[in-house]
Amino acid sequence: MSAIDVQIFDFVKRKALEVSSELREISLAIHCNPEIGFEEKFAHNLLTSFLEKKGFDVTRSACGMETAFIAKYSPENIIKEKEKIITTGFLSEYDALPKIGHACGHNLICIAGIGSALIFKSVIDELGITNLQIKLFGSPAEEGEGGKIIFIENGAFKGIDFALMAHPGSLDIVYANFLALQHFTCEYFGKAAHASASPWNGTNALDAQILAYQNIACLRQQVLPYQRIHGIINYGGAAPNIIPDYTKSSWMCRSPTQVEVRILKDRLDKCFEASSNATGCKVELNTTSFFYEVKRNDSITSVFKKWQEKQGVLYTSREFQESVSRGSTDMGNVSYVVPSIHPVFSIVDEDDPKPFPDIHTEPFREVAKSLKAHSKTLTCIVSLVMSALEISFDKELLKKVKKEFLNN
Ligand SMILES: [Zn+2]
Ligand SMILES: [Zn+2]
Repeated sequence: MSAIDVQIFDFVKRKALEVSSELREISLAIHCNPEIGFEEKFAHNLLTSFLEKKGFDVTRSACGMETAFIAKYSPENIIKEKEKIITTGFLSEYDALPKIGHACGHNLICIAGIGSALIFKSVIDELGITNLQIKLFGSPAEEGEGGKIIFIENGAFKGIDFALMAHPGSLDIVYANFLALQHFTCEYFGKAAHASASPWNGTNALDAQILAYQNIACLRQQVLPYQRIHGIINYGGAAPNIIPDYTKSSWMCRSPTQVEVRILKDRLDKCFEASSNATGCKVELNTTSFFYEVKRNDSITSVFKKWQEKQGVLYTSREFQESVSRGSTDMGNVSYVVPSIHPVFSIVDEDDPKPFPDIHTEPFREVAKSLKAHSKTLTCIVSLVMSALEISFDKELLKKVKKEFLNN
């Protein structure tokens, strides 16, 4: 590491400690005010006001999404030659899960993005850098519709050289394999009847859902081990003494590639259609958002991993890391537009002997507000900032990042 690297690394670590208490306050405020996708009004107002006070140029309700924002910072004396300006994209998420709140730890993803943008800005100001700028994307609804997809549809990532975000979890993983994912719904339309007096006059839309669920349960044995199908019945009828004339279920199917997801979805459609035939109900299948698998940029990944390791983070073998992660994210869609990473950082307290809880559970939600989780997020912020700086300072590295993106 050159002398300038050491100085910048020390500066970034010092800044992380300086902003720690403000970030902690934001993290806890978001955590105790959980809002589901596209309803994150409290978070949107808190974060946009905070970033405006810190000198960012903030677009509230960006790209037609009420709870999205883009916060930009360019130094006043930024160079005129647009092609020489390097723009880093950081991402924050702040949506919660229905009923169980911040059980995915998005309060930490929120401050990871905010903290990275703040510290990167301090470096620009401190060193009088004139060719770097930042855009922080406040991206709503990761747990559902995927706000990042709407950002992409609106061209919001145009001009971004690379994008960085990180997700909390139970293990430090840089070689995560995130699955492509199709969200969809299934509605059955039947005919109501008195369930005791004249059930033969009814067409049972709940039976249709139950049969479809069972069809899919059978199909599961015949899908690849890494494929995932999961659903819930959102509406199963009005009362036990009325033959349900309408029911609705929501589903997700996942596989490592988009092509595999589409093939799997065709097989699922047949399960739903079969129970429509069996019961005489009309079926309506509607696809909603499609998350791409993350096209991980290994050139950025190795830089991020290096900065994490310099701060004492330990990684297991690449093979092991690739085998353990089976989630999905709309960051996958971003990774098809600009070179990106979406590593996982551990928030495990090594001194706590209790088994670490699974993500999307109430115990994980509690860990996501712990001091340990906060301090591990700060470490991750330092690595995100150092990675962004290293890539921005090193022309050859940036070229390598972009070449890998184009060839991948
Ligand atoms: Zn989640
Ligand atoms: Zn998440």
